[in-house]
Amino acid sequence: MERPGIIKHRAAALRPAPNWTDYEAERAGFSWDGVRAALDFLPCGGLNIAHEAVERHARGEQGERVAFRFIGEQGQSDLTYAQLSHQTNRFANVLAGLGVGRGERLFVLAGRVPALYIAVLGSMKRGTVVCPLFSAFGPEPIATRMSLGDARVLVTTPTLYRRKVEALRDRLPGLRHVLLVRAPGEARQEIPGTLDWDEAMDGASGLFDIAPTSADDYALLHFTSGTTGTPKGALHVHGAALTHWTTGKYALDLHPDDIYWCTADPGWVTGTSYGIVAPLLHGVTSIIDEAEFDAERWYRILREQAVTVWYTAPTAIRMLMRAGPAPARVSTYPALRMVASVGEPLNPEAVWWGEEVLGHPIHDNWWQTETGGIMIANTPGFDIKPGSMGRPLPGVDACIVTRDADGAVHVATEPDTVGELALKRGWPSMWRGYLNEDARYRKCFDGDLYLTGDLARCDADGYYWFVGRSDDVIKSSGHLIGPFEVESALLEHPAVAEAGVIGKPDPTVGEMIKAFVSLKPGYEGTPALRMELLGHARKRLGAAVAPKEIDFLPSLPRTRSGKILRRLLKARELGLPEGDTSTLEAGA
Ligand code: ATP
Ligand code: MG
Repeated sequence: MERPGIIKHRAAALRPAPNWTDYEAERAGFSWDGVRAALDFLPCGGLNIAHEAVERHARGEQGERVAFRFIGEQGQSDLTYAQLSHQTNRFANVLAGLGVGRGERLFVLAGRVPALYIAVLGSMKRGTVVCPLFSAFGPEPIATRMSLGDARVLVTTPTLYRRKVEALRDRLPGLRHVLLVRAPGEARQEIPGTLDWDEAMDGASGLFDIAPTSADDYALLHFTSGTTGTPKGALHVHGAALTHWTTGKYALDLHPDDIYWCTADPGWVTGTSYGIVAPLLHGVTSIIDEAEFDAERWYRILREQAVTVWYTAPTAIRMLMRAGPAPARVSTYPALRMVASVGEPLNPEAVWWGEEVLGHPIHDNWWQTETGGIMIANTPGFDIKPGSMGRPLPGVDACIVTRDADGAVHVATEPDTVGELALKRGWPSMWRGYLNEDARYRKCFDGDLYLTGDLARCDADGYYWFVGRSDDVIKSSGHLIGPFEVESALLEHPAVAEAGVIGKPDPTVGEMIKAFVSLKPGYEGTPALRMELLGHARKRLGAAVAPKEIDFLPSLPRTRSGKILRRLLKARELGLPEGDTSTLEAGA
């Protein structure tokens, strides 16, 4: 369906009004010092994420506000800010009692249960560096990450420990303590070399003096998604709180009474920066869904919890689109004010789907594990150009750079130049190193520019458009083609649920464009449908950019954070080794 290239903002109709309505003025008047004034800081002048996220709200009336509402198999349970303060103090005391010091590393391997959130924030209070891992990882990726990260403590469950860690524990000589969190009602078992979470917490005081961390002290370790290769361990500092607060305000438009739901797992940076830190910094209530994706349940949560701000990912939106509009249309979502997405390019079709089915367009935003927080975003105060990632946030200086024949970097001055997306250093949540890979870290910078590895263009209105990762871009008959635009065109066809596009070496054109497509229920991958899709793409994109081959797959290989693994599609197509598959979603 042909649609207009713009969705006009409805800022005047939104209640509460968006936090950001004058793009230039807000950016011009912005300073990180101004943000510092909005935070509390420790009595000693230091900065600690957990203090800003929890303690600031735990005292007084705000203490009774629900910080996290967990929706689990056995119903719903709430943790208020005051309770979260008490529990995280206890956990910080547990660590102190075990002799775990500042800067040492604690890993969490658990589902989205309360103990995970308590462990993450309690570790920060102690000054311990925390690394949440996705609980669906297999033993090998867990052991590799814990060994690389020199894990001193692990918080996990008896089942996960037995299944995934016990057999490999001798590879982790530095791992001194393992705390096991039992499910409600689960009997205690004696497992050698482990401690019981409840017992340790019961004996710990609820008072704790937060470690006097500075803005430059490490707080978090996050592994990248592994979309382009072996995941890298990115180290983040307590000062990142300034970015989390700022982006919570501008990009997610958080207001004090919001009921906010971030669907990402804390095993990925989104699930920590925006599933834990940013909403707490703004004192809002977060919904935590302990279960995995299910279209009907998700719509029910949106409705029953009266979610106002929803932050999700393209893969989830595509799954909802695949389920069709019927489950969404069971009811309306009167409380919902803002829907945002991150992680992958968001096809225009998905932006429109939000508008048509939820009553709100999806606001795409862009960032990376390395940036620690949202850098470029569509926000409710401004028009959306579906397919664009939006514009840089206050405090973020972005540009497009190209390289000349000698490899020197030049900032593009002409709109719509395709080049590498770069950011000027100086935003507080920039990662401060890759674990054990100093040279790789240094290579990411050219003077004061961080080169992101993503190709994009910036139009005359300052909107950024994702073209592709530099590794995924296809060179065909002299054209530079981003898989995203080809995939977006395929997604406009009613039969297509997902599309992944690669370049396949070809003696004539350099690389031939090949698409892999999974279909919506009710469609069959017949030769006639293949012809129809090839024709549809040619009509939309022109012969030079349209795919020449289309294969149907039941689903596309994805990372556990939901990104299409084009490198795997390519390796499989060419019969090459698959490389690091530690983050590959099961069954993909
Ligand atoms: P690895 O670095 O290990 O290959 P990764 O880059 O996928 O994995 P993340 O840091 O989780 O790991 O993802 C960041 C990347 O995701 C970005 O560099 C970009 O390629 C992609 N991305 C995130 N948001 C968007 C978006 N809104 N539009 C397009 N791409 C996006
Ligand atoms: Mg990356």
